[in-house]
Amino acid sequence: MVLPIANPTKSYWIEAAESPLRDFRSNEELPEETDVAIIGGGYAGASTAYWIHKYTEKVSRQPQVTLLEARDICGAATGRNGGQLRPHAYSRYPAWSERFGSLGAMELIMHEMAHLSAFRDLAEEEGITEEVCLKFGETFDAAMTDEAWTRLKGALQAMQRDHGDDNDIVKVCRVIEDPRHAEEFSQMKGALAAVVHPAGQIWPYKFVHALLRIVLQKGNLSLQAHTPVTSVSERDADGWITVTTERGTIRAREVVHTTNRWASHLLPEFSKLIMADRGTIAAIKAPPGFIKHTGAQHWDKSVNNYHLQIPPPYNTIIIGGARQLLVHRPEDCVLNDKEDEQIAGVPEFFRSWPASDLTAWPESSSTELSKEVDQGGCWTGVQSETADAFPFVGPVPNRNGHYIAAGFAGHGMPRVLLSAAHITPLVLESLGVEYDQPPLAAPFPPLPQPFRATAERIERLQNTDTAAIAESYKQSCEESANKPFCNTARSISKI
Ligand SMILES: Cc1cc2nc3c(=O)[nH]c(=O)nc-3n(C[C@H](O)[C@H](O)[C@H](O)COP(=O)(O)OP(=O)(O)OC[C@H]3O[C@@H](n4cnc5c(N)ncnc54)[C@H](O)[C@@H]3O)c2cc1C
Repeated sequence: MVLPIANPTKSYWIEAAESPLRDFRSNEELPEETDVAIIGGGYAGASTAYWIHKYTEKVSRQPQVTLLEARDICGAATGRNGGQLRPHAYSRYPAWSERFGSLGAMELIMHEMAHLSAFRDLAEEEGITEEVCLKFGETFDAAMTDEAWTRLKGALQAMQRDHGDDNDIVKVCRVIEDPRHAEEFSQMKGALAAVVHPAGQIWPYKFVHALLRIVLQKGNLSLQAHTPVTSVSERDADGWITVTTERGTIRAREVVHTTNRWASHLLPEFSKLIMADRGTIAAIKAPPGFIKHTGAQHWDKSVNNYHLQIPPPYNTIIIGGARQLLVHRPEDCVLNDKEDEQIAGVPEFFRSWPASDLTAWPESSSTELSKEVDQGGCWTGVQSETADAFPFVGPVPNRNGHYIAAGFAGHGMPRVLLSAAHITPLVLESLGVEYDQPPLAAPFPPLPQPFRATAERIERLQNTDTAAIAESYKQSCEESANKPFCNTARSISKI
């Protein structure tokens, strides 16, 4: 049983955004009843509220939606992440095609890639592109070792082999082996080669707050910050589900669980299915426009960094990973919920990153965090992990009126928006209200099969051995920890 802890470390995204919705409550008292209760006010909860509004904005009565958030609005993973809107365009192809076949793997990739146009269209329609710092371009996976290059290039070649050079996804992935022709990754000191493909970047916290502001203004939403839900009932004979919170109870016709790592607090069948996994990020001051492309550096399958730069007037570099250091202390990440603690050595590791890893970092530029370490300069965040590496989306089996979209792990940005659009008509149908599919959602591909929260999947995963998952993670960290790139002064300073 676990609820989000109070007093998490402060993240740059939250502190610098200064949103008026941070602690927002639509009313002093909770409404007594609501058509739909959404539990969790991150990206999945806000997207669900947004799609319910869009699907019903043209009908005579919009359903009443109440969103209940334990922390401040968007105070968990979405407000503490890396800001990368970066689909797995090719890199997971070998693993996914082995599990789901070549077409199944492509279905997963296309669903992720469809998020790029979905974000662009939504942000344009709502006029929020600049506000949420949404940008598109090419991103790179830079190989820092031969081992990494064999893996990255091999993944793209496997996809090319199965789908041919004319495939729409294969066509937009490029291999660059000569750094002289590589504006994309030439800023990475020591990079050998790279695969490049389309991606985006965003200020996720601002995006969530913009969606909720729109629904508050135009839809039928009651937004409730600092309202942890402690239990939910089954549907009673009159069709109501009782949602109990620390501020009283509310009766709902339908309940959507967008509670990420904390889903099992209310739905115990997810205890072994969605687990904690902690990551860490820093915000670094940089000259305007210094970083040209979002990207990642890869040393082996577990060791990487990823970064982007936010546009002016912020100019901050957001950097995540620090895996060269973290592989020495796997218990700081796996099954770890300590979002209220920094990880020893990480702020210093990130602070030394520009001078150590960027080719043209100006010597005159001192490397400073954009805020003091504990005021948003460096932070930790629970990103969740799932038993079979895919999120759970859809009606919760054997629980009439409950839906889930949770467990998006450290890779939610190119997965959540369309997943929330998938469950929305299911919720509205069960509610029995009229709706129209909005043109924005009309071109979306179907939800990939591995995301579906089927009874068979949930039942099968009850046998998950979480201790064995942690052990295997520790072993893979140990393998990396012995390699030279994890034994530099920067990576072992705090062991
Ligand atoms: C350090 C880090 C880096 C990441 N980097 C990236 C990245 O660069 N790109 C990417 O694609 N993804 C990244 N991710 C993952 C991404 O942030 C998540 O997949 C995504 O934000 C999940 O959204 P969500 O709404 O499901 O979860 P959350 O944002 O965690 O929202 C769930 C909400 O539910 C609330 N809640 C839980 N239980 C209850 C309850 N009982 N009552 C009321 N409220 C409750 C929580 O407080 C929380 O606000 C990263 C995550 C972390 C932590």
